[in-house]
Amino acid sequence: MDSEANRETPDVESVVAILGQSATTLIQIISRHALDQDISLFLVGGVIRDLLLGRQNLDLDFVLESDASAFAHSLAGEFGGSVHMHPPFATAKWILDATAAANLRHSPGLTEAQIDFATAREETYPSPAALPRVIPSTIDRDLARRDFSINALALQLSPAAFRGRLVDPHGGRADLESGIIRVLHDRSFIDDPTRVFRAMRLASRLDFTIDAQTEALLHAAAPTISRLSGDRIRHEFQLILSEHAPELTVVDLESCGAFVAIDNAWLISDHLSEFFARCRKLRPPWQHSDYDLTTLYWHLLMVELPAEGVNALCDRLSLTRKLGESVASFARKLNMIDDLRDPTLLPSQITRLLDDASDMALHALWICAFDLPIVKQRIETFVDRWRNTRPRTDGNDLIRLGLQPGPRFREILERLRDAWIDGVIESEDEERELLHELLKDTSA
Ligand code: ATP
Repeated sequence: MDSEANRETPDVESVVAILGQSATTLIQIISRHALDQDISLFLVGGVIRDLLLGRQNLDLDFVLESDASAFAHSLAGEFGGSVHMHPPFATAKWILDATAAANLRHSPGLTEAQIDFATAREETYPSPAALPRVIPSTIDRDLARRDFSINALALQLSPAAFRGRLVDPHGGRADLESGIIRVLHDRSFIDDPTRVFRAMRLASRLDFTIDAQTEALLHAAAPTISRLSGDRIRHEFQLILSEHAPELTVVDLESCGAFVAIDNAWLISDHLSEFFARCRKLRPPWQHSDYDLTTLYWHLLMVELPAEGVNALCDRLSLTRKLGESVASFARKLNMIDDLRDPTLLPSQITRLLDDASDMALHALWICAFDLPIVKQRIETFVDRWRNTRPRTDGNDLIRLGLQPGPRFREILERLRDAWIDGVIESEDEERELLHELLKDTSA
């Protein structure tokens, strides 16, 4: 970071160019604070990997060979903001508020920044796929517990004698130059099968190759994904689905057996890449407030599951109830896609088929139906007109006319609505006439 920094690390000018002035100033202030206390401080992991690749990453992770929480508190004491501690992992988050941002001359865009400090630690895994046990340690041991060589890099910021040293005990820099993802030891994927997801996500994001030995270990460990909790798997998918083109990772994951390890009925559609690309390129002619690209991808991940299997998978992955219900309604609608092609269907029948689908489920169905113009058109007209069509008569009118609420009551209202949707009636007078006829049938 300083101009006297050793030659293999990025200098201040290039750091500013990559991270921007604001984040660079922040790093310098934190470094200065550590230098003043003669504390051993490192910037680690993804930010160093990305700095060396010339990519911006504002997720700043610091490691100290001393108490992280005491350091975060002393920063908050001097500059403001608050500290959120997570004692089991010896980590502390410094959460900047407006005062801290002003004191740090921090740009408004980063006011919400959270800066992570961790005490250097080593980990043991009580059993495969369980969360690790943690004890304080050195930077070398801390880097040794990491996932891949390119993530096991640290830039020392303090004390002054070591400032600017790149700590690279696992050949991460060489692997960055060769574009290789490599684990640090043979048990890595067994200890933590989330690394299977991480390896593939990183490989496709950076366009790197997974080293042959690592690939073999990954394939051998893929079945152990089944031991991960639903929350951890969902979190990994959420990260994958937030990437620019997640379909590459999804296809790789399927070919290594990750999907069947989670649920043996979970297959990925042959059209998945096309569907995901459409999600990014095409927007339906209607707007919906709960639109979110990642949520849309979730629906399409389950295209090949039988509708009965969707609920079980949503439970396994602990999806929110809202997302689970939406995905399940999409699965039911997808089962009806052939019915929706029937040219003899009346608009009211189409409406009945689609009526209980969420906006997101309709959006996903529209993506799948893009090559079926009649279905696509019907979904669009349903959203634009049919689903909002209501008769002028309501339940209170029927009560005034002497009817008791019940099945017949509902049927009359539905018949009136259908007649509007199908164009059988087009005015209030025509609706009144039809209502009279229906009431005559009721009294007969
Ligand atoms: P991204 O750019 O996707 O955020 P990142 O590498 O910064 O990638 P984080 O999840 O923020 O990823 O993790 C920060 C660092 O923590 C990683 O660079 C890696 O060194 C380490 N790490 C994260 N997850 C694991 C894991 N499952 N096993 C070992 N080390 C991990």
